[in-house]
Amino acid sequence: MNLEDITTIKSILSQPQKIVIIPHKNPDGDAIGSCLGLLGFLKGKGLEATIISPNDYPKFLKWMPGSDAVLNFEKENSQSKKILEEATVIFTLDFNDLSRTGQLEAFLKDKKADFIMIDHHQQPGNYARVAYSDVSMSSTCEMVYNFIEYLGELNSMTKAIATNLYTGIMTDTGSFKYRSTSSRTHRVVADLIDNGAENMMIHQNIYDNNAPARLHLLGVALSNMVILSEYNTAYITLTQEELDAHDYKKGDTEGFVNYGLTLEGIIFAVIFIENREEGIIKISFRSVGDFSVNEFARNHFNGGGHDNAAGGRSEISIEETIEQFKTILKAYKSQLNP
Ligand code: 5GP
Ligand code: MN
Repeated sequence: MNLEDITTIKSILSQPQKIVIIPHKNPDGDAIGSCLGLLGFLKGKGLEATIISPNDYPKFLKWMPGSDAVLNFEKENSQSKKILEEATVIFTLDFNDLSRTGQLEAFLKDKKADFIMIDHHQQPGNYARVAYSDVSMSSTCEMVYNFIEYLGELNSMTKAIATNLYTGIMTDTGSFKYRSTSSRTHRVVADLIDNGAENMMIHQNIYDNNAPARLHLLGVALSNMVILSEYNTAYITLTQEELDAHDYKKGDTEGFVNYGLTLEGIIFAVIFIENREEGIIKISFRSVGDFSVNEFARNHFNGGGHDNAAGGRSEISIEETIEQFKTILKAYKSQLNP
């Protein structure tokens, strides 16, 4: 953020406002963590603020401090709409385009309010009065920490804010191992621990709370894995039947795609997950090195994200999607054999 942005934010937040904070659809740890961290900060300043999520989020995030107050636009629809109508300031966190908010997009497009974007995805849209967008950042949570620092208010950091921001940095960096994890990220994380984030408890709450059915589903995913050695690529499929047979709940497949990258030599990993209710195949793409899955998802699967982690979708059957994917791969043979 530049000086002008900081001055604008200070002036906006110095007046009474009705603030709404919005994460992307199917929010992950970084989206929820950044919203809850920012909420804690704004409430600490005596401001009125509410988080409205486009839809539900996984149970493994529901222990996070303040999470019971998150409104679900799908479930608490009339209450959410009323709060949105009255909103004077809208923070949009962890996404680059209003289309990432699903059904909420229609309400946000024509909404008269001061939009403030905090985000680290590529190709940011230009709907915001203040856009704090930085694709080099590990996570939106790290950016919310910076945001508080820019306002000169790090002394108002609480244990709850620190816990929420730590959680999002941890989940978005794959526990501090992805390329975007900088020495600065570690300094921020150290400060969050000093301010009360209990790192071991947070890791356990997120990663060590599996139901047996989820691990069995992982077993199915791993045995479904196909390796395309000539493209240094591995992909996994999960059909709706396989999900149903394992008591699938939102978030259960989080992280499955990464197993492909643990194979020696594999630089591109993909998971195709059938979602019959939405009539789509949800796809996650991951890479190591210079192969941009953001470009791949944008160009071929109506998606996007980051260079090494992106998502997309397909509206044909899972079998047809795989065939299409394999055809597209041919054009990337040299890029996938660096
Ligand atoms: P995931 O594969 O875990 O759903 O998402 C990986 C990254 O890509 C996240 O940063 C997520 O926000 C982004 N992403 C996931 N799906 C989409 C999509 O459909 N469109 C865009 N633009 N980004 C996505
Ligand atoms: Mn993120």
